[in-house]
Amino acid sequence: MGSKNKLIVMRYSDRYSRQIIADNWDQRKLEESTVLVAGAGSLGCLSALNFTLMGVGRIVIVDYDTVEVSNLNRQLLFSEEDVGKSKSVIAKIKLEKLNPLVKIEAYNTDIRNLNRKILRDVQVIIDGLDSFEVRRWLNSIAVSLNKPLIHAGVYGWWGNIQVILPHQTACLECQPLIPKSRLQQYCSPPGRARVVKEKTVSKPTPIINTTCMVVSGIQCQEALKIILGLRENVLKEYIFYDGSHEKFTYMKVDRNPECIICGEKNILEERDFAVTSSEIVRQVEDRLNILLGLESCKLIYKGKMLNDDSKIQDYTIIENEPVYVISRDLDKPLKLRFKFV
Ligand SMILES: [Zn+2]
Repeated sequence: MGSKNKLIVMRYSDRYSRQIIADNWDQRKLEESTVLVAGAGSLGCLSALNFTLMGVGRIVIVDYDTVEVSNLNRQLLFSEEDVGKSKSVIAKIKLEKLNPLVKIEAYNTDIRNLNRKILRDVQVIIDGLDSFEVRRWLNSIAVSLNKPLIHAGVYGWWGNIQVILPHQTACLECQPLIPKSRLQQYCSPPGRARVVKEKTVSKPTPIINTTCMVVSGIQCQEALKIILGLRENVLKEYIFYDGSHEKFTYMKVDRNPECIICGEKNILEERDFAVTSSEIVRQVEDRLNILLGLESCKLIYKGKMLNDDSKIQDYTIIENEPVYVISRDLDKPLKLRFKFV
């Protein structure tokens, strides 16, 4: 063994010496794993830091926002000289210094534009997002690729955690417990990159670093169990955490067989959707948005997108032939059958 290799082995065994003696620990399983951290904000920074220190083999960080001064009270991978720079890029530089044995990949992009191959190769996905729209998309792709998703959110003194094991436990669409209006808010003002892209500035929501740490600790713990193959110990309930009274509330969340994302009995494929031929396409889309809780959907028939301002009768749609519903919220189009009334 060369002296350089010897040094790496020594560094390695010293570095992890206190965790490898823990019950059920298998450092090799960590090294062979890839964790995807969606969002490099408060929760994402903490997750990425934890997995880096513990020696997960590969960490993929996806965020297209930039560092803002208002992030510095909690997003501990960033400092003042990073303001204005890409969060994912800075996170990679900092994490590589903390543990050179871990492969860090950074993608300065909206996760919805990330190459699917990258998502297919991960063992577990950490939800560190603060946008409801993107979170719904992440839930939908996690279910369609059958990847465990560890969801968490924070709001001031409160936090929540839910583990989604696709087709085994409830997904985020099965029983949404947090009002959509709240989830839609951002927990910090978006950085410049996001303001330019989204052309909106939303009101900041309160966020406390210690709440993030409690919530992120549980989130990482659950991911760790999945990596170590301790699935029977994985959190089965939805946790609501109230840090102002130091209270944890556990809620049972059942799978919804009619869930549009993970339900076995897809409501749209099972049922006909009533339309009138004189109806404007936009009216049909609005009804679907309400029914499915989507932001804004579009309809596709025989490969052509239906024009919002046209009427249903402008297209010769045959009953029982599939019409597809697409939305930025969904990874895959939903199939629908028109029933003319
Ligand atoms: Zn579901």
